[in-house]
Amino acid sequence: MTTAPSRSWKHAVVTGGAGFVGSHLCAALLDAGTAVTCVDDFSTGRPENIAPLLEQPRFTLLQANVAEGLRVKRPPDLVLHFASPASPADYLRLPLHTMETGSLGTRNALDLAHCARARFVLASTSEVYGDPQQNPQDERYWGNVNPVGPRSVYDEAKRFGEALTTAHAETHGTDTCIVRLFNTYGPRMRGHDGRAVPTFVRQALAGEPLTVTGDGRQTRSLCYVDDTVRGVLAAAAHGMRGPVNIGNPTEITMFDLARLVVELAGSPSEIRFIERPVDDPAVRCPDITLARDKLGWDPQVRAEEGLRRTIAWFREDGTDG
Ligand code: NAD
Repeated sequence: MTTAPSRSWKHAVVTGGAGFVGSHLCAALLDAGTAVTCVDDFSTGRPENIAPLLEQPRFTLLQANVAEGLRVKRPPDLVLHFASPASPADYLRLPLHTMETGSLGTRNALDLAHCARARFVLASTSEVYGDPQQNPQDERYWGNVNPVGPRSVYDEAKRFGEALTTAHAETHGTDTCIVRLFNTYGPRMRGHDGRAVPTFVRQALAGEPLTVTGDGRQTRSLCYVDDTVRGVLAAAAHGMRGPVNIGNPTEITMFDLARLVVELAGSPSEIRFIERPVDDPAVRCPDITLARDKLGWDPQVRAEEGLRRTIAWFREDGTDG
């Protein structure tokens, strides 16, 4: 088996560092001895996510909208561009902000990386595959996205971000990498962000019915956040340009996920079926051959274990956000 590449960074800028995935990335980088500047406008992130990090001398918080400019005090050698509303509830509430963050924000983050001669990593998404006509999806699949559907503000912003990243690398020689993250879950998700895992966990802990959309047979593949963070940092350390899928290929139907959450939470909740959102993909599963071969990366946390940790966090710290 290949060993996941690692590299030590002196100073990383993490846009969206106060969000769910971003805050776990900041913590992992600090643990590895990297100084971190987190740039966040708190449009969907939360101060609580980074509160423990503020005590660390190597951690700096910069409250700013990356779409309006990106200036940091000291040049980074790594820029992780993770700023963007990510849950459907958020990007439907913030459509223009989402598009500006994916376009102007990505441009500003790329310019910063280029000027500093830093490695740049774009957090893209499995949503670039839209409602896929091929399952599982490998990186060569171009996707099936409705450009004027309600989800397009997110999907097309990310597709544009990928094109911009590629153009920047071609034009300026910027050292770029595109990671396509599939559904990630874990502690620090917001109970009301509309994504399946936090919604089910919140409902199960409150003893409310778990609301499964459609007939519940649509599948998702869920990756525990620690695995996602490891994959992102392995892609950063490797010289690859990507795109590379980072996700857990174990598919689960929404109905089975709901049943599992009820069981693990020891909840009396029943399962209720509600209307399925427009353009909701029927299947979503990564082909991770590239990540396995090039990065020696494989997800390690099984759904039962990841959900147990997530449920425990929601019991202790989960807010109603
Ligand atoms: P999140 O909403 O928890 O985090 C996003 C963070 O970006 C928030 O802290 C928010 O305040 C910040 N932000 C948004 N717009 C900004 C702007 N213009 N300027 C500065 N900060 C801004 O979402 P997340 O789930 O942590 O997702 C993080 C990244 O990973 C996103 O780019 C998302 O598209 C990508 N991603 C996430 C998943 C997932 O399952 N969580 C899957 C695929 C891709």
